[in-house]
Amino acid sequence: MTYAIKQVAVIGSGVMGSGIAAHLANAGISVTMFDRVPDALTDKEEKAGLTLEDKQVRNRIVSESKKKLLKQTPSPITSKKSLELIRTANLEDDIALLSEADWIVEVIVEHLGAKKELFQKVDSHRREGSLVSSNTSGISVEAMIADTSEDMQAHFLGTHFFNPPRYLKLLEVIPTEKTKPEVLSFMKTFGENVLGKGVVEAKDTPNFIANRIGTYGLLVTVQEMEKQGLSVGEVDSITGPLIGRPKSATFRTLDVVGIDTFYHVADNVYHHVFDPKEKEVFTVPDFIKQMVEKGWVGAKSGKGFYEKK
Ligand code: NAD
Repeated sequence: MTYAIKQVAVIGSGVMGSGIAAHLANAGISVTMFDRVPDALTDKEEKAGLTLEDKQVRNRIVSESKKKLLKQTPSPITSKKSLELIRTANLEDDIALLSEADWIVEVIVEHLGAKKELFQKVDSHRREGSLVSSNTSGISVEAMIADTSEDMQAHFLGTHFFNPPRYLKLLEVIPTEKTKPEVLSFMKTFGENVLGKGVVEAKDTPNFIANRIGTYGLLVTVQEMEKQGLSVGEVDSITGPLIGRPKSATFRTLDVVGIDTFYHVADNVYHHVFDPKEKEVFTVPDFIKQMVEKGWVGAKSGKGFYEKK
């Protein structure tokens, strides 16, 4: 069987979903970007007399994500023409559109239960033979499709993009034991030739390769900061501009990644390691948990370690 990707469904339009959709559109590929239906009205919608049944409310999350693509710096999108290749949809009203997709990429919250539930829905609406993948940062890709059909399992793998997808070249691909070899080789070639990525094949182990190392580095830095009584600004200056990496400072990176996402990603390893020393390193500090509880999750919420003015 030969594969061709002309139409992609990206499910989840947050930090990564919108960035992946933009990167695909920049490569000339048509994208339908999905998100969930909001469960409450905003004050503005309520004042305008709208209800939860109105299409503009039902598509609010995904429409706002699309609008943000033009405002972000560095810009995820290369031109207005790319933007026109992205249509928006919601997962309840428009799920039938999944049958049009040659490739369906899941980019929702880093939570196994949510991903499993979504993939069962995807399985009922996708076209047989279409490719399906997850952008998970490190949850077992095999576990998330355990309850799906044989055809879906044969066409499924992890495709882990890095943030921001337009600028970071690495793409980890993670096959399961059931992924067809031709699906894996197609995705590697497509990633390199069409998406311009440097593709690395990773095993289905917690946090794969780059995030296993990256999360370790970030957590050790945070723990060291607490031990030495350093401030966020001091750590960022030492781990950023002072070592010639102005864009990679520790806490600036966490704000861009999303502190909630970082928490889930680190916690995933915590639950899968058994060596007490490793467990200690992958224990997320309380102040990070508290920030997530307060909704201070970084740039996407306007407040994290830094505040968006
Ligand atoms: P995010 O919080 O920015 O966005 C998640 C989006 O998914 C939101 O728009 C939310 O409304 C939507 N969503 C949540 N549950 C849903 C559901 N059940 N159905 C449909 N939509 C749903 O998160 P993100 O940072 O974009 O992360 C998404 C995925 O990508 C995660 O698996 C994460 O681990 C992974 N990832 C994140 C980064 C990063 O730097 N943020 C990098 C690589 C991979």
